[in-house]
Amino acid sequence: MAFHRRVWRRLRPLRRALGALLLLTAAVSLWYFLQTPVLRFNRPPVTNDITGLNPMPLEGVIAPTTVEEIVDAVRTHEGPIAIGGGRYSMGGQTAAPGALQIDMRRFNRILALDTAARTITVQAGARWRQIQEAIDPHDLSVKIMQTYANFTVGGSVSVNVHGRYVGQGPLVRSIRSLRVVLADGTMVEASLTVNPEIFAGVVGGYGGLGVITDVTLDLARNVRVKRRHEVMPIADYARYFTEKVRYDSLAVFHNADIYPDGYNTVNAITYTRTDEPVTVPDRLVPADRSYRLNRFVFWTMSELPGGGWLRQHVVDPLVLRGEPVSWRNREASYDVAELEPGSRDDETYVLQEYFVPVERFDDWIPKMRRVFRTHRVNVINVSIRHALPDSVSLLSWAPNEVFAFVVYYKQETDVASRAKVGTWTRELVEQVLSLGGSYYLPYQPHATPMQFAAAYPRSDEFFALKRRLDPGNKFRNALWNTYDPLVLASEPPELSGALIARAELRPGYRRPDSDTFLQHPEWYIVYSSEEYGRHLASHPPSTFPYGAAIGQYWRSYYEAWNATRHTYPPNWAYHVMLWVIGTSYSGELALKGLYENTLGRLGEWSADGERTPEDDLAAEVAQEYGRFIHDRPWYEYRFLPRLWEVWTDPPLWGEHPARSWERKGFLTLEYGSKAAYAGLITLATRAAYDPQPPRTELLFRRWRDSLGQVIPELEVEERLDSTATVVSAGRFDPTRDLLLQLARSGPPDLRVDAIAGRPVTAFTGVAPRGWLPPGGPGRVLHAMPLPTDSGTVRLFFETRTRDLLPWLRRLVRDTALTVDHVYD
Ligand SMILES: Cc1cc2nc3c(=O)[nH]c(=O)nc-3n(C[C@H](O)[C@H](O)[C@H](O)COP(=O)(O)OP(=O)(O)OC[C@H]3O[C@@H](n4cnc5c(N)ncnc54)[C@H](O)[C@@H]3O)c2cc1C
Repeated sequence: MAFHRRVWRRLRPLRRALGALLLLTAAVSLWYFLQTPVLRFNRPPVTNDITGLNPMPLEGVIAPTTVEEIVDAVRTHEGPIAIGGGRYSMGGQTAAPGALQIDMRRFNRILALDTAARTITVQAGARWRQIQEAIDPHDLSVKIMQTYANFTVGGSVSVNVHGRYVGQGPLVRSIRSLRVVLADGTMVEASLTVNPEIFAGVVGGYGGLGVITDVTLDLARNVRVKRRHEVMPIADYARYFTEKVRYDSLAVFHNADIYPDGYNTVNAITYTRTDEPVTVPDRLVPADRSYRLNRFVFWTMSELPGGGWLRQHVVDPLVLRGEPVSWRNREASYDVAELEPGSRDDETYVLQEYFVPVERFDDWIPKMRRVFRTHRVNVINVSIRHALPDSVSLLSWAPNEVFAFVVYYKQETDVASRAKVGTWTRELVEQVLSLGGSYYLPYQPHATPMQFAAAYPRSDEFFALKRRLDPGNKFRNALWNTYDPLVLASEPPELSGALIARAELRPGYRRPDSDTFLQHPEWYIVYSSEEYGRHLASHPPSTFPYGAAIGQYWRSYYEAWNATRHTYPPNWAYHVMLWVIGTSYSGELALKGLYENTLGRLGEWSADGERTPEDDLAAEVAQEYGRFIHDRPWYEYRFLPRLWEVWTDPPLWGEHPARSWERKGFLTLEYGSKAAYAGLITLATRAAYDPQPPRTELLFRRWRDSLGQVIPELEVEERLDSTATVVSAGRFDPTRDLLLQLARSGPPDLRVDAIAGRPVTAFTGVAPRGWLPPGGPGRVLHAMPLPTDSGTVRLFFETRTRDLLPWLRRLVRDTALTVDHVYD
């Protein structure tokens, strides 16, 4: 013990020096980290829907105000066309990559109101609220619409929406007729009797057959309604509804909210017609109302533990107190702003809806509960409504009488969270299909094409009609890009969970998801070393921006941490390694920078700015080292032989002896200390972090044997089924080269579903500053200018792995960008 203490005391000066060095490194790192500029990108012109989850690059947007403009655009535009109404659908139904979007919101006039016949004709971009303002003075009301009044009539017809109306169902039940501009530019009328097959396809056709220009709708009387509510066990609800609501001719609105997380209790709310005087005088909900409190309540319910309990026992009893009497129009003029969160950047609120045949109500509840609980879905509310059948529309979601379960939940916006939502959504769809039910299409299109076909058995008739009316597939959007067989012929469907699980059982197949991002700072050192080598080849070492390189390392680390901290389980071993290598890298650069800008500069000055053989050797070693660490750990680089060369290769007394000896001294210190540190770090790093596996497995869809020639040493590991193949390639550069090669010359329907088992992939590339990435399915998380060349930036891209090849295909066509790494 005494001996240890003595040694420890003797080492005090060394300990102090190390401590001072660490402090200096920390201060320099923090200083430069704060100075490092980070560029963020907005891609041109991009549209999104209300969730913020579906940014879509467009070729352009037009907002017509006349029929002629619509006809002209449809006739003359050569590429795809997508149609946007209020854009409250939540899965890209209003846009397609590279499409011209016809934004209908300014095409919104009220064309005719017949108060005697109780009908109204409006242009498709008119919103319900606008109609309500026009008809309320005539004591009329919209017959069927959604709960909120912000939606356009065209969007609502195309979705075939429904609301909380008792004894009603899909909107088609209230449509007298409509007019639509077809793909060839002709305008046709459609109704139950005129062009009935077009009517059946356009209603609920999600803009796939043409642009609806105007619609004639039935109206109802604006009556006074009294609200009552009753809380009951969920097991009692179906009987309660049948006995008390279904056949009550006075009932106007009804819905029932199921309380998460138990899903055992339901609050049934009914508005019945009354002659009592109103206690809520507003004819419509005031348009300028503030919804700050609502936002706060929703946030509380979704973020605090026991949010469901809070809602059931505190919020709802307060909100639903009393039995107020109000106007029907008031209860139909709610504003979606009451649901809108302050920001949808990191988290967003999303809807889903499942339709269950009325007689299977009790079978559905446990299935739904199980899926939500297994996947710990952050459900805020499940609202039950009822709908009578629709035997008219081809994509009818209620071929029989159904209960609709509207699920309102919160999810994070990163790619991995979206993939997780996809998994539980497909499970719910599977469950509802097993009961003979269906699911709603205006939300995220996570269901597989097979599930879609099962839920919408007449979709083949719809697509046959589309082939006839729109043979060039002009009208497109994310929904039809996902389910249209014509598009699917060039896109493999999502792989089943069982096959994914089989692939994941392969040893070494899956690496931690977060590493995709955490590798970036590690790779930054590789880029930086290469940059240093390139710089030394033509510049004196004192001009290298050491501080900027330190700042960029920590900025890359911060960005990687930020991108992973809410999404993936923390990989602490990786973080430890990044701190170890980051600290040593920063310490080294700080010391080098200090030296090169003091004594080093004196050396440069003594040689009159000329290079010595030692300068050339240093540049050569730096470049070799940069290449070496591309696929090997830095500490395996053999510094000692290079140190030997410093003393044996260049002459001892060259042309500029002062510079030569200054360099010899510097390089001896650099290579000597690195050799010693490499020995230490080998032990430390290996203790904290496993050596990297040498190969990466990629799960390809529609792989062909002929593609085996693309890069040497590629191996086909396993065929999972006729469309899914696991292929392996050497890690890092070979994997990148394989993907780039396939993007350049592989078949267009080839996809890679997972790299190292990960459904999310990142890659980097360099491009001139000011370059704008062409739109694509992923996003640029950040970009930083190169420390030695502020006119060039390195961009960090993130994408769902499945979208990687289609996106790379677009990117490789752009010669301004050089993709330098795919994180495998
Ligand atoms: C908060 C919230 C609440 C909701 N509540 C309900 C509800 O109670 N009931 C319900 O059924 N749904 C509901 N929805 C779902 C649904 O998004 C809307 O019913 C409907 O899509 C909204 O109309 P929109 O004008 O926003 O349509 P958009 O989202 O703009 O468009 C929907 C589809 O219609 C197509 N389209 C739009 N205009 C035209 C046109 N003129 N010609 C041809 N195609 C066109 C689009 O291409 C797209 O495919 C809700 C959505 C949100 C966000």
